[in-house]
Amino acid sequence: MTQLEPLVSLICQQMGIDEEDIRLRKSYLGLTSEEEVLLRQVHDDLGRFRERFLDELYEGFLAFPPTAALLRDEAQIQRLKAGQARYFDDLTCGEYGPDYVRHRLRVGVAHHRTGLESKWYLAAYSQYLIALLRHLGEVYEGDESGYLRLAAALIKVVFLDIGLAMDAYFHAGRMNEAALKAYSESLVDNAPCGMVVLSSELRVLFANPSARRLLQLCDEVQGLTLESLFPGEEIRDLALSAQEDGHASYNIFLPFAGGETRNLQLTFTRLPLIKDGSGRPLSTGRLLLTLEDFTSLWRARTEVSRISNYDELTGLPNRKLFLELASHALARARGKPGRLAVLFLDLNRFKNINDTLGHEAGDLLLRELALRLRHILRNNDIVSHFGADHFTILLQGIYDRQDCMHAVQKIMSLFATPFRIGEREVFLSANIGISFFPDDASEPQELLKYADAALHQCKNEGRGGYCCFREGMDQGAKRALSLETELRRALEQRQFCLYYQPIVGLKDNQVLSFEALLRWYKPDGEIVPPLQFLPMLEETGLIREAGDWILEEACTMARQWEVTGGVAPAVSVNVSSLQLSDSRFARRVFHILSTCDLPPEKLELELTESMLVEQSGVTVENLETLAEMGVRLAIDDFGIGYSSLGYLNRFPLHTLKIDRSFIQDICEAGQSAAVARTIVTLGQALQLRVVAEGVETYAQLQMLKAWGCTAVQGYLLSRPVDRRHVKALLERDWNAACAPAVPLASG
Ligand code: C2E
Ligand code: CA
Ligand code: CA
Repeated sequence: MTQLEPLVSLICQQMGIDEEDIRLRKSYLGLTSEEEVLLRQVHDDLGRFRERFLDELYEGFLAFPPTAALLRDEAQIQRLKAGQARYFDDLTCGEYGPDYVRHRLRVGVAHHRTGLESKWYLAAYSQYLIALLRHLGEVYEGDESGYLRLAAALIKVVFLDIGLAMDAYFHAGRMNEAALKAYSESLVDNAPCGMVVLSSELRVLFANPSARRLLQLCDEVQGLTLESLFPGEEIRDLALSAQEDGHASYNIFLPFAGGETRNLQLTFTRLPLIKDGSGRPLSTGRLLLTLEDFTSLWRARTEVSRISNYDELTGLPNRKLFLELASHALARARGKPGRLAVLFLDLNRFKNINDTLGHEAGDLLLRELALRLRHILRNNDIVSHFGADHFTILLQGIYDRQDCMHAVQKIMSLFATPFRIGEREVFLSANIGISFFPDDASEPQELLKYADAALHQCKNEGRGGYCCFREGMDQGAKRALSLETELRRALEQRQFCLYYQPIVGLKDNQVLSFEALLRWYKPDGEIVPPLQFLPMLEETGLIREAGDWILEEACTMARQWEVTGGVAPAVSVNVSSLQLSDSRFARRVFHILSTCDLPPEKLELELTESMLVEQSGVTVENLETLAEMGVRLAIDDFGIGYSSLGYLNRFPLHTLKIDRSFIQDICEAGQSAAVARTIVTLGQALQLRVVAEGVETYAQLQMLKAWGCTAVQGYLLSRPVDRRHVKALLERDWNAACAPAVPLASG
């Protein structure tokens, strides 16, 4: 019962049941204080037949199915009877104050809760009253006027009771309905989707808070037209079709003041006909419009598509989007007059810029170039950043090659203005390869492949500028692909071997060193010279693996070389820049020397000038470690590259090797001879060993010896030989070999 207390208080408050109200109720019933006294007087008399009275009452309840259904078991009946007994006592106690009133209200609410219908409730009252009057008749036998006075008082009290109990009974019902209504309204108010009810004339009848927020409306929405919410005919037509078909939905982008755009999913649903109590239709053609906010989803999707389709650095379409856009463009152009051109643009020396000025500078440059390209090209031309320093461009609406050349010239002219990186100005240049649709190919991938082939042609010719694809240009690319595959297999199947060529000292005609030179023995017996496959080994990075093997093989061989009565020769191994820029290189060399048990000074590494000039941190570290270890360092092909000789002092070098091209014409007293002679002098000044490569004649040897050159290497003394023939060279009499075959004429 305790949970009922707050409810009873609420009912009192809401229905205004207070002392005054009770006074009024009593006054209209005509219940006087004399009658209250009268009732108190018969209290004891009535109490005597209380038990019998209650038994009869409950027999009646149990005999009637609708009330019997509410009585579950004997325990409940006993409980209810006890309650009734109290009531019975209260009824004639003559105290009808606030406690009595609250009790009556409580009983009304409780009966509402048990589900007792009002008709049975009232009938029970009637039975109760009649039974009471019958028993009263027994008490007042013979005193008719006394009986009537008391009966009137009793009837009034019972009706006071009925009034209170039924008021509470019905009010509890209304409160339930109100709670349900509030609940359903709160569902609509708190629904995350917007809900708008529209009249058949498509005017707003109601909009929930979410709808007002999504559409940025104020609270006063009644009467607004659908067009004022969604300008244009489209949404209106959609609503009309929903009135016909029951349902229609649509996804729109709605712009708002301040530049914000929302993506909304609109769904119109025709509402069922609403009728009044008598079944008359209240409204027809009403629509419920629900609004779902897809803005975040749409933004997320847009972002995903941006990331997967655009290059982050330049903001240009990436390779994937370029191919997609190009294939659409080709589809549109198919069968129509005119051409499309695919341009493949590659920057020259971009790697240098990255290496010398840093990657940030490189990024700035690419961004600036992207802007320039976008600026000079037409809107329907597609410019993409293909990766690294590659850009691809699709020119649309071209009638002949001349049109295309016009655009290419414009692109080339972009490079006439230097690029600014902070304080610096950098000049860039580019090569462009071009292919045409439909002349060369009709698929984007193929057009790109041909433009790329043309680009390579352009670079090979070394003239810079641009080049259009011609039949046969892609042969090189095809060959390159198969070469790479073959080289990988060669490495796996150990098809490489080393040849050795002696370097002979001119002072005492002793072999100072053997240069290890790589050969590729193909399974078909062909011996491939290194210049045909080295570039590919480097390009693919396979040189790292191959380089390790070369070092191991060369050091293992050198360990076995012995010369009776002389010093064992060293081995000279060519090293590529990729190896030297690997941070683990010096450690690898150390490891190989240890496992082969070869003293470090028996290994000379041949490096090229460019490797020393374009020095990165890793290269320098490797060189310093190698020098500390005691490994000898030689500069190969000296003289052909750089004029800066600063690095000669910076690194602990041992040998300069004069490039073969200077030796060839050494006897002709021309420029080559002058260079060769200068190198010899330079070597002497720096106390370096100077080796002349490619010595083919005795005259060349004589000349070099006269200048004071330390050592020679060349076909004159020996061609590079297979490892099995090194032993013979070790045992050879080099004095004889260095002597003239036919004595030179004196003078
Ligand atoms: P290089 O280091 O300048 O090697 C000398 C090249 O000149 C060798 O060519 C050798 O066979 C050739 N040669 C020697 N004497 C004469 C001569 O009197 N006349 C003529 N015409 N040529 C002579 P090869 O073996 O074809 O090697 C070419 C280049 O390949 C080498 O030039 C070197 O840069 C590179 N190379 C060779 N083996 C290796 C290697 O194991 N690793 C690396 N990284 N590069 C290698
Ligand atoms: Ca060499
Ligand atoms: Ca050389």
